[in-house]
Amino acid sequence: MQQKVVHIEEQEEPPGCCPTNAFPFSNHPPSPTFRQRHFPLATDDDWHDWHWQLRNRITSLKKLGKLIDLSDSERQAMAFNGATLPLAITPYYASLISPDNPQQPLRRTMVPTLSELLVSQGEEHDPLGEDNHSPVPGLVHRYPDRVLFLVTDYCSSYCRYCTRSRMVGRRKSHSPARWQKAIAYIAANPGIRDVLLSGGDPLTMGDEQIEWLLSRLRRIPHVEMIRIGTKAPMVLPQRITPELVAMLKKYHPLWMSIHCTHPDELTPEATKACAMLADSGIPLGSQTVLLSGINDSLDTMRTLMHGLVKIRVKPYYLYQCDPIIGSAHFRTPVSKGLEMYQGLRGHTSGYAVPNYVIDAPGGGGKIPLIPETVVGREGNDLLIRNYEGKVYRYPDVIGAASRAS
Ligand SMILES: *Cc1c(COP(=O)(O)O)cnc(C)c1O
Repeated sequence: MQQKVVHIEEQEEPPGCCPTNAFPFSNHPPSPTFRQRHFPLATDDDWHDWHWQLRNRITSLKKLGKLIDLSDSERQAMAFNGATLPLAITPYYASLISPDNPQQPLRRTMVPTLSELLVSQGEEHDPLGEDNHSPVPGLVHRYPDRVLFLVTDYCSSYCRYCTRSRMVGRRKSHSPARWQKAIAYIAANPGIRDVLLSGGDPLTMGDEQIEWLLSRLRRIPHVEMIRIGTKAPMVLPQRITPELVAMLKKYHPLWMSIHCTHPDELTPEATKACAMLADSGIPLGSQTVLLSGINDSLDTMRTLMHGLVKIRVKPYYLYQCDPIIGSAHFRTPVSKGLEMYQGLRGHTSGYAVPNYVIDAPGGGGKIPLIPETVVGREGNDLLIRNYEGKVYRYPDVIGAASRAS
């Protein structure tokens, strides 16, 4: 390996110096330029206010066409907007989108194309059968000890490959009447020790609403842990305010799963949002969907995983893309996912390696896929293959006989 040798004595800084967090990944326009051009009246306070970001979301063809040079496919797809998943992009996230390249990864995840209207074999509106595992509306109880609580149908920005595109973005916001029923169900089922708040994006709700939910759940003695699934740190980092984190930390153990797609999302704003969450003691995990032409190169995936670890987010799940209607252009062969896993495991920190899973169509839950490492047996020896492809022996303990003294 050819690497420049750094002389530590000369480089070393005394304690107290902070590493700089330069924006390392790509060269899209920094937010201020975008802001001056497209939101000239927005003040700094406006831009950093999550309510302003929500009020000024890009939701129409007209608005979108002013920000980016629409391709024919994008323009035509927008004519069907409303028939499928709605369009919404926060001004902040729009500032990360390339105005002239329709193939730019972040642009493809947010701007609809005609491919969305194409129905391919095996695709369904609800491939995971969530609606069948729903004892009360808005609650999915698939595993014995934990539930998925869909607290809102609303997101600040809609990912085109969303597993819940059948239901999100239709209504204006959350539905407190449903919450009462869901909480009553959780309270009545002592086997539930883990509640996962998702949606929609729970962090699009106000502090008071989130606190209402967390405090009610905390009153249930058998609820040991609460998790929030969100993309806010990536699409609406302004949402992570000192007030929010001060409130959240009252409800520990609280964990958070952050949806991340591409290294371009790891901006100084996202970095700061994750730092505030981590500093308030919330263990952070990531969820990434494997997407064709977006993050399915080992280089991109490695950069994303390393970038997440650097901002204290543990890569948790890498999902095979769910076969929702109109998702063929996003889906990769399963062999791609295994290639990603194989390219990471052993080659980099174990903390940077997510679990690669398929959420089984029909409601089987998440099933991990791991490349075969057990080569065979020779007598008591188990033959196992390491990350370099070399085979090693482990003297296995077989049955009670080997334990005789
Ligand atoms: C993903 C999921 C969970 C949580 O699963 P973990 O593997 O514990 O993260 C719970 N319920 C449903 C319905 C899910 O889809």
